[in-house]
Amino acid sequence: MNAETQTLLQAVEAHGGSLQVEGSDLVVEAPQPLPDDLVARLRAAKPELLRTLTSATWDRDDWAAFYDERAAVLEHDHELPRGEAEAHAWEMTIIEWLRQNPEPAHRSDICAYCGDRMTDVDGVPVLRSGGGHTWLHSACWRDWYDGRRQMAEAALDEMQTNSKKGLIQ
Ligand SMILES: [Zn+2]
Repeated sequence: MNAETQTLLQAVEAHGGSLQVEGSDLVVEAPQPLPDDLVARLRAAKPELLRTLTSATWDRDDWAAFYDERAAVLEHDHELPRGEAEAHAWEMTIIEWLRQNPEPAHRSDICAYCGDRMTDVDGVPVLRSGGGHTWLHSACWRDWYDGRRQMAEAALDEMQTNSKKGLIQ
């Protein structure tokens, strides 16, 4: 979360309001209409706010519950050995993290990975936060995806949801 995002969330709170994410929309709930200048700043910071609010909605317990539930279903309903069930569940947790933490929005005429110009022939679309998609060179996709996975694993590791650490029963 950057400084402006934090300031805005506090400002909304100071007005007795709260921000909710509904799909790709930011919804303000407040007892009275917020001042125009605050609304304008919220609008300007919308992509970052969506990203912050979406990633903040799941804490460590939520991720652990997501992982546990999937591991249990795979082991008991699909009768996979525990180790295999855990490996699949971990994979599903990473994919869910990637879904909840999409690529930030930016210009559509440059590659989200290397920053060089896109040409018509070699683009791969990827979802970005706030809805819609952004573009990558097809040659950049693999490295981009590996980097995103590393981000997911690092974030989930930090929340200690990784079964390899034995923190999930
Ligand atoms: Zn590229």
